[in-house]
Amino acid sequence: MPGRATAPPAPGAAALFLDRDGVINFDSGYTHRREDFRFMPGIFELAREACRRGLRVVVITNQAGIGRGRYDEPAFLALTDWMLDRFLAEGVAIDRVYYCPHHPEASVPGYRVACPCRKPAPGMLTAAARDLGLDLPASMLVGDKAGDVEAGAAAGVGTLVLLGDDAMPAAARGARRGADLAAVRQLLFGA
Ligand SMILES: [Mg+2]
Repeated sequence: MPGRATAPPAPGAAALFLDRDGVINFDSGYTHRREDFRFMPGIFELAREACRRGLRVVVITNQAGIGRGRYDEPAFLALTDWMLDRFLAEGVAIDRVYYCPHHPEASVPGYRVACPCRKPAPGMLTAAARDLGLDLPASMLVGDKAGDVEAGAAAGVGTLVLLGDDAMPAAARGARRGADLAAVRQLLFGA
């Protein structure tokens, strides 16, 4: 799965892994246009605090909408470039964005794969660790679905946080709960 680089890697660092839909932006379902992309309250503050503490910031996102033909990779990448610029304007350099365009039931030829990168499989996390030389036990992950946490656990990410305030799904046992991104920031950084 491709990654997008915006900064040179610094080996040995911990990372803050962020899911995209439902963590960075409100999950409106197959979000692929700027006009539908609304940043979640507190996301810039959370990412900025991670940067301030020397963590790499890495986005890991399932984008089955590509395989399902809702939008294509150039559209996803254009939206990603815009998103990265918005983060930069907020003082946050996101190191990489990993995305999985596949789905076992994808309609677009070539994307119909049960791949090792689609969460809950850990492939995007292990690729990031390899590419950036990350310390996974010292790293953190924030997701809004049990599959995010499962991927993190499978990769050996040390701190897993599930965003939201519903009951903890059984598959996400071992994660901590943050009702919103301000609570997540407090939980991870005490700030
Ligand atoms: Mg999500």
